[in-house]
Amino acid sequence: MKTITESFGSMVFDERVMKATLSASVYSSLEKTIHEGAKLDATVADAVAAAMKDWAVLRGATHYTHWFQPLTGITAEKHDSFITPSPDGGVIMEFSGKELIKGEPDASSFPSGGLRATFEARGYTAWDPTSYAFIKDNTLCIPTAFCSYGGEALDKKTPLLRSMEALNRQALRILRLFGNSTAKYVHTSVGPEQEYFLIDKEMYLKRKDLVYTGRTLFGAKPPKGQEMDDHYFGVIKPRVAAFMEDLNQELWKLGVLAKTEHNEVAPAQHELAPIYTTTNVATDHNQLTMELLQKTASRHHLVCLLHEKPFAGVNGSGKHNNWSMTTDDGSNLFTPGATPYENAQFLLFLCAVIKAVDDYQDLLRISVATAGNDHRLGANEAPPAVMSIFLGNELTSILEAIETDTPYFAEKRSKMKLGVDVLPKFTKDTTDRNRTSPFAFTGNKFEFRALGSSDSIACVNIMLNTAVAESLKIYADRLEHAKDFPSALHEMIRKTIKDHKRIIFNGNGYDDTWIREAVKERGLLNYRTTPDCLPHLLDQKNLELLTTHKVFTPAELSSRMEIILENYCKSITIEATTMVDMVMKEILPAISSYTLEMAQIARTKQEVDASLSCVYEKEVLHQLTGLSQRIHSQVQALSDHLVALQELSDTCRTAFQIRDVILPSMCTLRVACDEAELLCPKRLWPFPTYGDLLFGV
Ligand code: ADP
Ligand code: MG
Repeated sequence: MKTITESFGSMVFDERVMKATLSASVYSSLEKTIHEGAKLDATVADAVAAAMKDWAVLRGATHYTHWFQPLTGITAEKHDSFITPSPDGGVIMEFSGKELIKGEPDASSFPSGGLRATFEARGYTAWDPTSYAFIKDNTLCIPTAFCSYGGEALDKKTPLLRSMEALNRQALRILRLFGNSTAKYVHTSVGPEQEYFLIDKEMYLKRKDLVYTGRTLFGAKPPKGQEMDDHYFGVIKPRVAAFMEDLNQELWKLGVLAKTEHNEVAPAQHELAPIYTTTNVATDHNQLTMELLQKTASRHHLVCLLHEKPFAGVNGSGKHNNWSMTTDDGSNLFTPGATPYENAQFLLFLCAVIKAVDDYQDLLRISVATAGNDHRLGANEAPPAVMSIFLGNELTSILEAIETDTPYFAEKRSKMKLGVDVLPKFTKDTTDRNRTSPFAFTGNKFEFRALGSSDSIACVNIMLNTAVAESLKIYADRLEHAKDFPSALHEMIRKTIKDHKRIIFNGNGYDDTWIREAVKERGLLNYRTTPDCLPHLLDQKNLELLTTHKVFTPAELSSRMEIILENYCKSITIEATTMVDMVMKEILPAISSYTLEMAQIARTKQEVDASLSCVYEKEVLHQLTGLSQRIHSQVQALSDHLVALQELSDTCRTAFQIRDVILPSMCTLRVACDEAELLCPKRLWPFPTYGDLLFGV
């Protein structure tokens, strides 16, 4: 058996392998491409492809695929084998530079939001050399971007790479102003903490709602939920521990830095966090992690639920996006430095984020908008839909002192003069630990906590990178022409604090009074649902931001809005249809059976001895009959609403109709069915209950 250090990355064509298998000159030009975005010439591509193929074949690979992230939210692959016929009737294994660099999958069946008519169905995939190739299921997977033939992005990776480039461009301008002439590039790093539920596979298969929608649409509250707080960080059960061990092995082989694992707040809920890495790679790795979570669970006769709200009444699952900016020589731009000058730079980058989050609250909200996530945001288990930044008291008072030009260090009574005074060192403990903020500064990184568990991390990082790039661009435009750099800098920081302090909030984000204050007094946005926020993707200011930084074209943006809204409509329509199906085929028949049983018992009792009391039987009979009438009329109503929905042709109007009519109607129906569950005996209830699912592993 291999040790972890031996098996780590054993299925990845990483720099260790490149160094060992490529000639010095090929390796050095590939390095330039990976780190500096230099163009790769054809002979180098051929050499890399040949080395990759030999390496992969030795490890059992027979096929290769361009691995990409279309707008379905999951990854896509189309496998081609390496075999090529040889003149002697046999085959040889071949893989050319051309095949490595570009693929041409038929794009017509992927969502394009109107970007691509089916008659021009071709799309192409282009190698992303900044993310290593790897072997999965005997297939060499080459991370690629996916575009239409006209060059419009049809995936999540392309705009992410563009946003990283935009941020790099602007951050370098700022660093140069601070006299840094050596940094070659600035990238963002992300460590996404992934939450999920694990349940027994046999029970899962008995629930149509889980199978079709990934969440339970019915289920009465079990006697025990998460109120005892005994699951969080609790001892991991043997079956779950075996799953986690297996999962770690698989992830490590693929070079995913899986680091921590623990039980989460809700029963059956767990979390996995990797060590942070470059955003692009972190995004690929998180997709792989979600795939392997599900595959590995299945091998252990478990099912991994990635849905944001699989169970009502207990916490749902999110994904914390820990984000920071780093130079190529490893310096984190959100670390307050040791010298006054470094601190001024830190404060400027901090201000850039504050400004970005305030100016583009809507884009951040949009970037986490899905039907599933709407259940969590603002439900006292995840941050509200209102964006705000938590900075901690220390940093907040420093900013206040700068803004008002008043003393910060009480005992020294000195004013904070930027570029002159040293900031106190913030430790992680003086920040952090406010779990209710959507966007928290945690020592040397920002933690964005509104993202849903099933979502790709690409979208939030695209918006975050671009919004911060815009703040930095505004700063650089002004500072590059400043006669007196320190005063201009001071003024800029002060102005940002003054203009954007409304977004800073260190209190309890779950509190209703905060939502009122945020909206009424501070004028912050509160887009509760996906249909509320999505149309704002095309607001003029957002369109301008995303197009000037060349992250999206206007056509790409409107296509994305269409796809996300369509997805919202489809998911909830499937949920509603599943409810109707379960009620008609399973729940109402179960209630009828029990009603009949009770009626028969009452009648038999009366026949045996008319003086026997039937109060209990009659009471249940009345309740069940009442409930089945209610359920029947409500399911009828929901069906009618679903039919009416089909009359609407406009996606936006459909989404509003779903929000206003379908979802409330689903809620009412569920309440009645859950009441019936409590009245019926276990042996007659047609599917596993919450108790079975949450405590069954
Ligand atoms: P918690 O949020 O539970 O306190 P940590 O703060 O230790 O946990 O880390 C959470 C995640 O943040 C991990 O994935 C970790 O690798 C990542 N992380 C830590 N430092 C940084 C950083 N500078 N930039 C981006 N991510 C980071
Ligand atoms: Mg965290």
